[in-house]
Amino acid sequence: MKKKTQFEPAQRLKELPPYVFAEIEAKKQELEAKGVAIIDLGRGDPDLPTPPHIVQRLKEALKAPDFNRYPSYVGITEFRRAAARWYHRRFGVSLDPETEIISLIGSKEGVSHAPMAYVDQGDIALFPDPCFPIFYTSILFAKARPYPMPLLEENAYLPDLGKIPKEVAEGAKLISLNYPHNPTTGVATHDFFREVVRFAKQYHLVVLHDLAYSEIYFDGHYCPSILEVDGAKDVAVEFHSLSKTYNMAGWRIGFAVGNAELVGYLTLVKTNIDVGVFGPIQMAGVEALEGDQSGVDELRRIYQRRRDILVGGLREAGLEFKVPQATFYIWVRVPPGHTSASYTDYLLDKTGIMVTPGHGFGKTGEGYVRFAFTSPEEQLQEAARSLAALKKEG
Ligand SMILES: *Cc1c(COP(=O)(O)O)cnc(C)c1O
Repeated sequence: MKKKTQFEPAQRLKELPPYVFAEIEAKKQELEAKGVAIIDLGRGDPDLPTPPHIVQRLKEALKAPDFNRYPSYVGITEFRRAAARWYHRRFGVSLDPETEIISLIGSKEGVSHAPMAYVDQGDIALFPDPCFPIFYTSILFAKARPYPMPLLEENAYLPDLGKIPKEVAEGAKLISLNYPHNPTTGVATHDFFREVVRFAKQYHLVVLHDLAYSEIYFDGHYCPSILEVDGAKDVAVEFHSLSKTYNMAGWRIGFAVGNAELVGYLTLVKTNIDVGVFGPIQMAGVEALEGDQSGVDELRRIYQRRRDILVGGLREAGLEFKVPQATFYIWVRVPPGHTSASYTDYLLDKTGIMVTPGHGFGKTGEGYVRFAFTSPEEQLQEAARSLAALKKEG
């Protein structure tokens, strides 16, 4: 028998990759303690306020009787109906609010619990590399075998499904995707989603699609739901979030939609872990989805102006990148001679700009850094000036 030691973490924690974000956070604090002004373009954390009509709805909902009691596991009916109507208006997708939608405590909660509902120990789960780290860690936590699908610039950051070996596809039960994509800013097309659905049917895979950034797009670029393509509802579950669209990251509300059986299995996991979202927050979510949407247009205008400021600075610095069509990130190639880590340090030391090193999102992220533009324009202008000066310095 294995010798017991006190307070030893579980094996699944020991298997977690090193957390590179903690290192740069420590470095930032060290510099700030020395009085260096840092421009934090590392975290993708919406900085703008939640629209007031949504906050007002929360206040009103707090006056209702019984909000203190346990909420429903799947989400209150009004919220699920509002989500269904929103999907129909936005994507032309019809959903049954009784069986094809559940509320989530933020979409991160849903995405991270999903593998537990769909895979067993030893099953292969395909995931994008680079990715939002929970895509990978949630597969580890479910004891399945993560298999990375590299997202390369030359494929517009879409995985090449044809390159997945047959025996891997045959051993896989899950494929996870996220478009618009954090961190590469890649966007999906209907053709790509059709290919994913075909692949999933051929190999009997569950498709998990994270659609958190569908509303953060520029120049009118259309970001589709996978459920728009024929047959997707036979195989897919999609996760949406109110965090980005309505500046509600701290509220913790999102929802999962799609195949009724798949939504049901996720519900079963969740009923054994949590008891759903605080009722008044769901009512505020109804207001967000059904109320005045002019704030969302304004949000896109703000992000687009910010994007353009940062794009200007990055161009002057002579850096290589693709102007994003969606998300609030820019995925930038590090200059020759640098790694993601060394360039992150270099930027911090020379300009006080903090970015996220690409390798923190997976092996294929090496050679890139991610700039987030969830900071006010003045700060981005300052960052752009520092970047331009960097070039002159050489
Ligand atoms: C921000 C983000 C989300 C949203 O998470 P919430 O838990 O809904 O706040 C989901 N997926 C990705 C890839 C993100 O970057």
